Amino acid sequence: MDFTSLAKLPIIDGHVHFVHPERLDEMLALLDEAGCERANLVCIPNPDGSTHNPAALYFKERCPGRAFLSAALEYAPALTEPARAAEILAGQIGTLRARGFDGLKLIEGKPQVRRLLPHPLDGPLYAQVWAALEEQQLPVVFHVADPDEFWDPAACPAWARESGWDYSDGSYPAKEDLYSEVDAILRRHPRLKITFAHFYFLSAQLERAARFLDAHPTVCFDLAPHVGMYHDFARRPEAARAFFLRYQERIIYGTDLDTRPLERGEAGRRFMRFIPWLVRSCLEVAGPFTAPDGTAFHGLGLPRGVLEKIYHANFERVYQPGGG
Ligand SMILES: [Zn+2]
Repeated sequence: MDFTSLAKLPIIDGHVHFVHPERLDEMLALLDEAGCERANLVCIPNPDGSTHNPAALYFKERCPGRAFLSAALEYAPALTEPARAAEILAGQIGTLRARGFDGLKLIEGKPQVRRLLPHPLDGPLYAQVWAALEEQQLPVVFHVADPDEFWDPAACPAWARESGWDYSDGSYPAKEDLYSEVDAILRRHPRLKITFAHFYFLSAQLERAARFLDAHPTVCFDLAPHVGMYHDFARRPEAARAFFLRYQERIIYGTDLDTRPLERGEAGRRFMRFIPWLVRSCLEVAGPFTAPDGTAFHGLGLPRGVLEKIYHANFERVYQPGGG
């Protein structure tokens, strides 16, 4: 991918999955190519009860200046003592910084995960976790909902269905139910420092996205792509640009770079090189442009001062201890 025409600015990628320690050099090469100095490694639990936390700690140990770490909650110890599960999870928040983490990542609002761990996000299992996060002002990257297509059997892409993300059989929570749970959490804890991943899946509803950010001044959105997100912006380029200008302090660069697709060989590697190029081009290019595969996009042509905030200053503000 050609990054040479893109801005030379310090960049922090707020949303990177580092799962395979043996792929450290490949991940560093991907970050380097995209002009990205530092990355926030967002950890999630595995179905077997382990987490990505050890891989992220390994990355930070090898490259201390390049990583922020967002820990996954560890459910294994909570499962052995169900009566104390809420307390055990909340206890993990208190030790995050001492264990080398900068914040928390929650994938628990993804419908597939929300069904697997059938606990309301605003329910008793997490009540003390939210209280501790607010009290200690620890930043959270929170994945809530998913693209609308995943609830629609006619529109759900085959690759999403194969990943277990076809939610059309009625056994998964509805997108609005997940948003209601988040609203309840934010009513109780209005000072939570949450970055909602993937633009909170509201890229097709910019007016609603604006109302949400207005109502909750301590939350941000990240730009890690999902199916259709940058096409949504391209469909309404003027409205999207106005949104980015108005909320320039509330948007954090992110790509979802991930070592797992690298396991698929060249196609996965090509896709991982494409994503940062796409996100950066959508922010920087003024007007229409074409991806190498011929797909048409429309860049927002954001001014350099706005790019500075989205690429690093907003993240730094949120992640500096005591910052907001
Ligand atoms: Zn992700």
